[in-house]
Amino acid sequence: MSDQFDVVVIGAGPAGYVAAIKAAQLGLKAACIEKWVDTSGKQKLGGTCLNVGCIPSKALLESSEQFAKAKHEFADHGISTTEVSMDVAAMMARKNKIVNNLTTGVAGLFKGNGVTSIEGMGRILSPTQVEVKNHKGELSTVDAKNIIIATGSVPIEIPPTPLAEGVIVDSEGALAFESVPKRLGVIGAGVIGLELGSVWARLGSEVVVLEAQDKFLASADQRIAKEAFKSFTKQKLDIRLGARVTGSDVKGQEVVVKYQDKEGDKEITFDKLIVCVGRRPYTKDLIAPGVDVKLDERGFVYVDDQCRTTIPNIYAVGDVVRGPMLAHKGSEEGIMVAELIAGKKAKMNYETIPNVIYTHPEIAWVGKTEEELKAEGVAYKAGSFPFAAVGRAMAANDTTGLVKILADAETDRILGMHVFGLHASELIAQGVIAMEFASSAEDLALTCFAHPTLSEAVHEAALAVENHAIHMVNRKK
Ligand code: FAD
Ligand code: NAD
Repeated sequence: MSDQFDVVVIGAGPAGYVAAIKAAQLGLKAACIEKWVDTSGKQKLGGTCLNVGCIPSKALLESSEQFAKAKHEFADHGISTTEVSMDVAAMMARKNKIVNNLTTGVAGLFKGNGVTSIEGMGRILSPTQVEVKNHKGELSTVDAKNIIIATGSVPIEIPPTPLAEGVIVDSEGALAFESVPKRLGVIGAGVIGLELGSVWARLGSEVVVLEAQDKFLASADQRIAKEAFKSFTKQKLDIRLGARVTGSDVKGQEVVVKYQDKEGDKEITFDKLIVCVGRRPYTKDLIAPGVDVKLDERGFVYVDDQCRTTIPNIYAVGDVVRGPMLAHKGSEEGIMVAELIAGKKAKMNYETIPNVIYTHPEIAWVGKTEEELKAEGVAYKAGSFPFAAVGRAMAANDTTGLVKILADAETDRILGMHVFGLHASELIAQGVIAMEFASSAEDLALTCFAHPTLSEAVHEAALAVENHAIHMVNRKK
């Protein structure tokens, strides 16, 4: 006889493991099926995010930033060092330790909350039954009153640059280089390209990023994107826009990449090439024939705004469904679905999901960009404030960037906040909270912010919406 659960979650990434924990906390009998195992057959929880995504990339970003600071900035503070060097193996070991702490932490959370963790590949046989094939090939089934699909996403591969062991890699490979490549190519100036390009550039690689689009960071506010482009170029990230990759030729330990831009056909040689042109939803072998869970035209599991699929007791959350591919978006969907299954009212606010790009400085935003508001014909006011005028940013030796706030012209309600600057990933939470509470720009302007802090730029940007910034000569009268 198979086990019966109130909720069976397939996939233990940040969408799935959070859904399983929340369901258990709400008193439901929950199980989570995860197929990822290490070479010894030990199950690995945490999905892309913890194993090969958010966490390891941020660990390397942090290490490389410390290295760059020691090399280029310590002298400004009057600190002298002898030759600064980088031990890539030690940097990777630190990253692996952090990953291990967090993934084993999820196992502990499962245990502590009473979630049954099942190792293996899950396949939905019917709306109430899931088959599990473990890494040894053994089959079992679990009965489920409700199923949550949380199978995530995988990198997109493109025909001109098929992966080639050790030379052409995806983001996972780029998190595990054994040494600093001299010439590093990156295809795609998106989030991964900029983050991993930054890591290796700081460690000494000559980085060239080939981006097909003519516009840099097309989905970001374009004032921020322009400032960021200037700053990254200064950091020696050679970002080539309008560059369409047409082919590649691996020759021993290097690769020749062919691409076209407006000047014509070009070639460039790299020691390593990272392909990061987006990710696609992963549903391979997930749904048995006859089970009517529909996919949309792009291969995402089709869901409504409460993550219900086309079968009433089957839900789907995270990267495998529409919306931004972000860990926190998936986790919030997981919580919403667990609450719905437990009979609670739950709804997610998709308008206030923050986006962060962990470059230096960081880029972060929430809500609408100025370009989106223009396209939608919304009348708005804008206020911005540069970090160059913020004492704390000067003290930190990091004055690049600005905060920009967009508010409705009539109601003053905040419609978007955009930050390019030190700790933008932390500052953006202020915009998220303000928008979640339907705050006006004036509400923020009337709030007392601690001095000296980077947050003062948020305060001044809110004041600047009505042209009342204190530490800036107001241009409009
Ligand atoms: P995943 O994390 O992909 O987890 C899905 C899990 O399901 C996997 O463990 C997989 O093995 C398992 N699975 C799949 N099919 C089956 C099956 N049939 N049976 C059993 N198990 C199955 N997002 C951020 O918000 N912030 C960041 O800083 C950030 N950085 C990133 C950096 C990199 C390099 C990458 C690649 C991604 C990054 N992301 C970041 C994106 C983030 O990792 C994803 O949005 C997030 O992991 C999605 O969570 P998920 O649970 O939907 O899917
Ligand atoms: P992305 O969508 O952010 O960027 C891909 C880039 O590649 C785009 O600019 C696109 O125009 C370009 N591109 C596509 N095809 C190309 C081609 N043939 N030649 C040249 N350029 C091409 O995708 P990504 O960087 O791979 O990241 C995948 C997902 O992971 C993203 O959706 C992102 O949300 C998530 N992620 C998030 C974070 C974060 O939150 N900080 C970090 C990493 C990844």
